[in-house]
Amino acid sequence: MCIFCKIVTKEIPSNMVAENESFYAFHDINPKAPVHVLIIPKAHYDSFRDIPGDVMGKMTTFMQNVAKEVGIDESGYRIISNIGDDGAQEVKHLHFHLLGGTHLHWGHFSDANSKDFL
Ligand code: AMP
Repeated sequence: MCIFCKIVTKEIPSNMVAENESFYAFHDINPKAPVHVLIIPKAHYDSFRDIPGDVMGKMTTFMQNVAKEVGIDESGYRIISNIGDDGAQEVKHLHFHLLGGTHLHWGHFSDANSKDFL
């Protein structure tokens, strides 16, 4: 079982933000912004490549609600999903990074240290 599946089953503790029957949101253990929440489906998909469109539709609504829940809906935010090797995906369970709480820079995408948001 992968690390995020173990977070879903609570075998590994996490700092939960929200959940419903299908999705789970929790604070990233190594935040790159004042708000850095990971949003995952409870069912295992290796990456964004694998999630069916109808499930993604429901996940979109959940992510919008999480952004409201953590208070960044009005100020703005960024959603990122790293996919596969070139996407620098480390955990092979689909997750979206929800980042906000500050004015995020954009140029880091061309930097070697591409995950430094601040
Ligand atoms: P990625 O590089 O897109 O696969 O991102 C994986 C993310 O998972 C990183 O931002 C890690 O800090 C985060 N992460 C890994 N293990 C945990 C954990 N146990 N609890 C919370 N976040 C985690």
